Amino acid sequence: MRSVATLVDYFGHAGEIVEPHPGRQSVIYRVPGRVPGAPALTLLPHLDVVPVNRAGWSREPFGAEIADGFVWGRGAIDMLNLTAAMAAVFKRYLTGELPPLPGDLVYAAVADEEAGGALGAGWIAANRPELVESESLLTEIATPHVIPGGGLPVTVAEKGPAWRILRTTGTPGHGSQPYATDNALVPLADAVMRLTETPTPVVISPEWEAFVTGSGLAEDLVARLTDPDRVDAAIEELRAADLGMARWAHACTHMTVAPTVFAAGGKHNVIPDGGEVRLDIRLTPGQDLDTVDDHFRKVLGPDLH
Ligand SMILES: [Zn+2]
Repeated sequence: MRSVATLVDYFGHAGEIVEPHPGRQSVIYRVPGRVPGAPALTLLPHLDVVPVNRAGWSREPFGAEIADGFVWGRGAIDMLNLTAAMAAVFKRYLTGELPPLPGDLVYAAVADEEAGGALGAGWIAANRPELVESESLLTEIATPHVIPGGGLPVTVAEKGPAWRILRTTGTPGHGSQPYATDNALVPLADAVMRLTETPTPVVISPEWEAFVTGSGLAEDLVARLTDPDRVDAAIEELRAADLGMARWAHACTHMTVAPTVFAAGGKHNVIPDGGEVRLDIRLTPGQDLDTVDDHFRKVLGPDLH
Protein backbone atom coordinates (compact mmCIF):
# COMPACT_ATOMS: atom_id res chain seq x y z
CA MET A 1 0.00 0.00 0.00
CA ARG A 2 2.91 2.27 0.74
CA SER A 3 4.22 1.50 -2.74
CA VAL A 4 0.96 2.61 -4.35
CA ALA A 5 0.95 5.78 -2.25
CA THR A 6 4.55 6.45 -3.30
CA LEU A 7 3.67 6.05 -6.98
CA VAL A 8 0.55 8.20 -6.75
CA ASP A 9 2.63 10.86 -5.08
CA TYR A 10 5.35 10.57 -7.70
CA PHE A 11 2.95 10.78 -10.63
CA GLY A 12 0.82 13.51 -9.05
CA HIS A 13 -2.30 11.73 -10.35
CA ALA A 14 -4.61 9.37 -8.45
CA GLY A 15 -4.81 6.59 -11.06
CA GLU A 16 -7.22 3.70 -10.68
CA ILE A 17 -6.56 1.82 -7.46
CA VAL A 18 -7.94 -1.67 -6.93
CA GLU A 19 -7.74 -3.61 -3.68
CA PRO A 20 -9.45 -7.01 -3.90
CA HIS A 21 -8.01 -8.00 -0.53
CA PRO A 22 -6.93 -5.71 2.32
CA GLY A 23 -3.35 -4.64 1.72
CA ARG A 24 -3.17 -6.01 -1.85
CA GLN A 25 -3.32 -2.74 -3.75
CA SER A 26 -2.58 -2.29 -7.43
CA VAL A 27 -2.67 0.97 -9.36
CA ILE A 28 -3.35 1.45 -13.07
CA TYR A 29 -2.88 4.49 -15.30
CA ARG A 30 -3.68 4.94 -18.98
CA VAL A 31 -2.49 7.65 -21.35
CA PRO A 32 -4.69 7.70 -24.49
CA GLY A 33 -2.89 7.32 -27.80
CA ARG A 34 -3.17 9.84 -30.61
CA VAL A 35 -4.13 7.42 -33.44
CA PRO A 36 -7.55 5.79 -33.10
CA GLY A 37 -7.28 2.00 -33.24
CA ALA A 38 -3.48 1.92 -32.86
CA PRO A 39 -2.27 -0.97 -30.66
CA ALA A 40 -1.85 -0.22 -26.95
CA LEU A 41 1.16 -1.08 -24.83
CA THR A 42 1.03 -1.98 -21.14
CA LEU A 43 3.96 -1.65 -18.77
CA LEU A 44 3.34 -4.28 -16.09
CA PRO A 45 5.66 -4.11 -13.10
CA HIS A 46 4.94 -5.69 -9.73
CA LEU A 47 5.16 -3.92 -6.39
CA ASP A 48 5.60 -6.75 -3.91
CA VAL A 49 8.77 -8.52 -2.82
CA VAL A 50 9.49 -11.85 -1.15
CA PRO A 51 10.04 -11.95 2.64
CA VAL A 52 13.36 -11.13 4.23
CA ASN A 53 15.54 -13.21 6.54
CA ARG A 54 17.42 -10.41 8.21
CA ALA A 55 20.17 -12.74 9.40
CA GLY A 56 21.40 -12.98 5.81
CA TRP A 57 21.59 -9.23 5.27
CA SER A 58 24.54 -6.96 5.89
CA ARG A 59 22.44 -3.86 5.10
CA GLU A 60 18.93 -2.72 5.97
CA PRO A 61 16.73 -4.72 3.53
CA PHE A 62 14.17 -1.91 3.24
CA GLY A 63 16.60 0.97 3.48
CA ALA A 64 17.36 1.42 -0.23
CA GLU A 65 20.88 2.39 0.77
CA ILE A 66 23.16 3.43 -2.06
CA ALA A 67 26.64 1.99 -1.65
CA ASP A 68 29.40 0.62 -3.90
CA GLY A 69 27.47 1.84 -6.92
CA PHE A 70 24.36 -0.23 -6.13
CA VAL A 71 20.98 0.33 -4.49
CA TRP A 72 20.77 -2.24 -1.67
CA GLY A 73 17.42 -3.65 -0.66
CA ARG A 74 14.91 -6.45 -0.99
CA GLY A 75 13.43 -6.26 -4.47
CA ALA A 76 16.14 -4.01 -5.88
CA ILE A 77 16.56 -6.53 -8.73
CA ASP A 78 13.22 -8.33 -8.60
CA MET A 79 11.85 -6.06 -9.81
CA LEU A 80 11.62 -2.62 -8.23
CA ASN A 81 14.48 -1.38 -10.40
CA LEU A 82 12.21 -1.88 -13.42
CA THR A 83 9.09 -0.73 -11.58
CA ALA A 84 10.89 2.56 -10.93
CA ALA A 85 12.42 2.81 -14.40
CA MET A 86 9.05 2.20 -16.05
CA ALA A 87 7.48 4.81 -13.76
CA ALA A 88 10.13 7.36 -14.69
CA VAL A 89 9.46 6.84 -18.41
CA PHE A 90 5.70 6.66 -18.02
CA LYS A 91 5.55 9.87 -15.99
CA ARG A 92 6.82 11.84 -18.97
CA TYR A 93 3.84 10.67 -21.04
CA LEU A 94 1.38 11.02 -18.18
CA THR A 95 2.31 14.64 -17.51
CA GLY A 96 2.43 15.55 -21.20
CA GLU A 97 6.15 16.23 -21.16
CA LEU A 98 6.34 13.84 -24.11
CA PRO A 99 3.66 13.74 -26.84
CA PRO A 100 1.34 10.71 -26.73
CA LEU A 101 2.37 7.52 -28.52
CA PRO A 102 0.19 6.32 -31.43
CA GLY A 103 -1.57 3.79 -29.17
CA ASP A 104 -2.60 3.93 -25.51
CA LEU A 105 0.16 3.55 -22.96
CA VAL A 106 -0.81 1.76 -19.75
CA TYR A 107 1.16 1.55 -16.51
CA ALA A 108 -0.19 -1.19 -14.24
CA ALA A 109 1.79 -1.67 -11.03
CA VAL A 110 0.41 -4.81 -9.42
CA ALA A 111 0.38 -6.50 -6.04
CA ASP A 112 0.71 -10.18 -5.21
CA GLU A 113 3.00 -11.29 -8.04
CA GLU A 114 5.32 -13.16 -5.70
CA ALA A 115 2.35 -15.10 -4.32
CA GLY A 116 1.01 -16.12 -7.73
CA GLY A 117 -0.77 -12.95 -8.80
CA ALA A 118 -4.36 -14.03 -8.09
CA LEU A 119 -4.92 -10.83 -6.07
CA GLY A 120 -3.00 -8.65 -8.51
CA ALA A 121 -2.72 -9.10 -12.29
CA GLY A 122 -4.99 -12.15 -12.19
CA TRP A 123 -7.75 -10.29 -10.40
CA ILE A 124 -7.54 -7.29 -12.73
CA ALA A 125 -7.63 -9.49 -15.86
CA ALA A 126 -10.70 -11.34 -14.53
CA ASN A 127 -12.62 -8.42 -13.01
CA ARG A 128 -11.45 -5.16 -14.57
CA PRO A 129 -9.97 -6.19 -17.94
CA GLU A 130 -10.80 -2.81 -19.48
CA LEU A 131 -8.13 -1.23 -17.26
CA VAL A 132 -5.30 -3.17 -18.89
CA GLU A 133 -6.72 -3.87 -22.32
CA SER A 134 -3.79 -3.73 -24.76
CA GLU A 135 -2.14 -5.61 -27.59
CA SER A 136 1.34 -5.88 -26.05
CA LEU A 137 2.93 -5.71 -22.66
CA LEU A 138 6.36 -5.36 -21.19
CA THR A 139 6.94 -6.98 -17.84
CA GLU A 140 9.86 -8.15 -15.79
CA ILE A 141 13.06 -9.92 -16.42
CA ALA A 142 14.18 -10.58 -12.90
CA THR A 143 17.79 -11.61 -13.15
CA PRO A 144 19.14 -11.47 -16.66
CA HIS A 145 22.51 -13.08 -16.65
CA VAL A 146 24.64 -10.61 -18.53
CA ILE A 147 26.58 -12.68 -20.97
CA PRO A 148 30.38 -12.58 -21.06
CA GLY A 149 30.50 -10.86 -24.45
CA GLY A 150 28.13 -8.14 -23.20
CA GLY A 151 24.79 -7.33 -24.76
CA LEU A 152 21.27 -7.18 -23.42
CA PRO A 153 19.24 -10.37 -23.40
CA VAL A 154 15.64 -10.11 -24.59
CA THR A 155 13.17 -12.48 -22.94
CA VAL A 156 10.87 -14.18 -25.43
CA ALA A 157 9.60 -17.09 -23.34
CA GLU A 158 9.12 -17.77 -19.65
CA LYS A 159 9.22 -20.82 -17.47
CA GLY A 160 5.97 -21.70 -15.77
CA PRO A 161 5.49 -22.55 -12.10
CA ALA A 162 4.09 -26.01 -11.31
CA TRP A 163 4.42 -25.97 -7.55
CA ARG A 164 3.69 -29.11 -5.58
CA ILE A 165 3.37 -30.14 -1.96
CA LEU A 166 4.57 -33.62 -1.11
CA ARG A 167 3.02 -35.14 2.02
CA THR A 168 3.93 -38.21 4.01
CA THR A 169 2.04 -39.92 6.80
CA GLY A 170 3.29 -42.13 9.61
CA THR A 171 2.28 -43.41 13.01
CA PRO A 172 2.91 -41.31 16.10
CA GLY A 173 5.21 -42.75 18.72
CA HIS A 174 7.50 -41.81 21.55
CA GLY A 175 10.82 -40.32 20.61
CA SER A 176 12.60 -42.42 23.24
CA GLN A 177 11.94 -45.66 21.30
CA PRO A 178 12.47 -44.98 17.63
CA TYR A 179 13.32 -48.53 16.60
CA ALA A 180 11.14 -49.70 13.67
CA THR A 181 8.71 -46.81 14.00
CA ASP A 182 6.76 -45.39 11.10
CA ASN A 183 8.27 -41.91 11.21
CA ALA A 184 6.76 -39.60 8.57
CA LEU A 185 9.85 -37.42 8.49
CA VAL A 186 12.22 -40.13 7.26
CA PRO A 187 10.57 -40.91 3.88
CA LEU A 188 10.09 -37.18 3.42
CA ALA A 189 13.80 -36.51 3.86
CA ASP A 190 14.54 -39.42 1.54
CA ALA A 191 12.19 -38.02 -1.11
CA VAL A 192 13.84 -34.61 -0.89
CA MET A 193 17.26 -36.16 -1.36
CA ARG A 194 16.15 -38.22 -4.35
CA LEU A 195 14.37 -35.32 -6.01
CA THR A 196 17.43 -33.14 -5.50
CA GLU A 197 19.89 -35.68 -6.84
CA THR A 198 17.99 -37.06 -9.83
CA PRO A 199 18.47 -35.03 -13.01
CA THR A 200 15.32 -33.77 -14.69
CA PRO A 201 14.80 -34.18 -18.46
CA VAL A 202 16.85 -31.91 -20.71
CA VAL A 203 14.99 -29.54 -23.02
CA ILE A 204 16.89 -27.64 -25.70
CA SER A 205 14.32 -25.09 -26.83
CA PRO A 206 14.66 -22.97 -29.97
CA GLU A 207 14.78 -19.93 -27.63
CA TRP A 208 17.77 -21.34 -25.74
CA GLU A 209 19.49 -22.32 -28.93
CA ALA A 210 19.06 -18.82 -30.37
CA PHE A 211 20.26 -17.21 -27.16
CA VAL A 212 23.40 -19.31 -26.79
CA THR A 213 24.22 -18.99 -30.47
CA GLY A 214 24.09 -15.20 -30.19
CA SER A 215 25.84 -15.05 -26.83
CA GLY A 216 29.41 -14.69 -28.03
CA LEU A 217 30.48 -17.79 -26.08
CA ALA A 218 33.18 -20.02 -27.57
CA GLU A 219 31.91 -22.07 -30.51
CA ASP A 220 32.72 -25.38 -28.88
CA LEU A 221 30.85 -24.42 -25.70
CA VAL A 222 27.85 -23.26 -27.75
CA ALA A 223 27.77 -26.64 -29.50
CA ARG A 224 27.78 -28.50 -26.21
CA LEU A 225 25.25 -26.20 -24.49
CA THR A 226 22.77 -26.87 -27.27
CA ASP A 227 23.32 -30.64 -27.45
CA PRO A 228 20.92 -32.55 -25.16
CA ASP A 229 23.51 -35.29 -24.60
CA ARG A 230 26.35 -32.95 -23.66
CA VAL A 231 24.64 -30.01 -22.00
CA ASP A 232 24.84 -31.38 -18.43
CA ALA A 233 28.59 -31.91 -18.69
CA ALA A 234 29.01 -28.44 -20.19
CA ILE A 235 27.08 -26.90 -17.28
CA GLU A 236 29.24 -28.82 -14.80
CA GLU A 237 32.29 -27.36 -16.50
CA LEU A 238 30.85 -23.84 -16.46
CA ARG A 239 30.24 -24.18 -12.73
CA ALA A 240 33.89 -23.73 -11.80
CA ALA A 241 34.30 -20.63 -13.98
CA ASP A 242 30.95 -18.93 -13.36
CA LEU A 243 28.47 -20.46 -10.94
CA GLY A 244 25.76 -17.91 -11.78
CA MET A 245 25.97 -18.68 -15.48
CA ALA A 246 25.93 -22.44 -14.78
CA ARG A 247 22.83 -22.12 -12.63
CA TRP A 248 21.13 -20.04 -15.28
CA ALA A 249 22.07 -22.40 -18.12
CA HIS A 250 20.72 -25.30 -16.07
CA ALA A 251 17.43 -23.51 -15.37
CA CYS A 252 17.02 -22.64 -19.06
CA THR A 253 17.45 -26.24 -20.19
CA HIS A 254 15.68 -28.21 -17.46
CA MET A 255 12.53 -28.46 -15.46
CA THR A 256 13.81 -27.48 -12.00
CA VAL A 257 12.71 -28.89 -8.66
CA ALA A 258 13.68 -26.93 -5.55
CA PRO A 259 12.58 -27.97 -2.06
CA THR A 260 11.85 -24.73 -0.25
CA VAL A 261 9.73 -25.39 2.85
CA PHE A 262 10.07 -28.52 4.97
CA ALA A 263 7.86 -29.30 7.95
CA ALA A 264 7.23 -32.36 10.10
CA GLY A 265 6.55 -32.96 13.76
CA GLY A 266 5.93 -30.40 16.43
CA LYS A 267 7.29 -31.77 19.64
CA HIS A 268 10.87 -32.71 20.42
CA ASN A 269 9.97 -36.11 21.93
CA VAL A 270 7.23 -37.29 19.56
CA ILE A 271 7.71 -39.35 16.38
CA PRO A 272 5.84 -37.33 13.73
CA ASP A 273 2.84 -38.88 12.03
CA GLY A 274 2.81 -36.43 9.14
CA GLY A 275 5.01 -34.06 7.24
CA GLU A 276 5.22 -32.05 4.08
CA VAL A 277 7.71 -30.43 1.80
CA ARG A 278 6.90 -27.64 -0.61
CA LEU A 279 8.58 -27.83 -3.97
CA ASP A 280 9.12 -24.90 -6.26
CA ILE A 281 8.94 -26.55 -9.68
CA ARG A 282 9.45 -24.62 -12.92
CA LEU A 283 8.64 -26.01 -16.34
CA THR A 284 10.35 -25.06 -19.55
CA PRO A 285 8.13 -23.86 -22.42
CA GLY A 286 6.39 -26.89 -23.94
CA GLN A 287 6.36 -29.01 -20.78
CA ASP A 288 3.17 -29.62 -18.84
CA LEU A 289 1.94 -31.10 -15.57
CA ASP A 290 2.36 -34.63 -16.96
CA THR A 291 6.09 -33.93 -17.17
CA VAL A 292 6.08 -33.37 -13.40
CA ASP A 293 4.00 -36.49 -12.70
CA ASP A 294 6.21 -38.65 -14.90
CA HIS A 295 9.35 -37.37 -13.23
CA PHE A 296 7.96 -37.86 -9.72
CA ARG A 297 6.86 -41.44 -10.49
CA LYS A 298 10.28 -42.18 -11.91
CA VAL A 299 12.09 -40.77 -8.87
CA LEU A 300 9.73 -41.69 -6.04
CA GLY A 301 8.09 -44.84 -7.34
CA PRO A 302 4.56 -45.75 -8.37
CA ASP A 303 3.04 -45.51 -4.87
CA LEU A 304 2.66 -41.79 -5.20
CA HIS A 305 -0.86 -40.41 -5.29
ZN1 LIG B 1 9.53 -10.44 -10.00
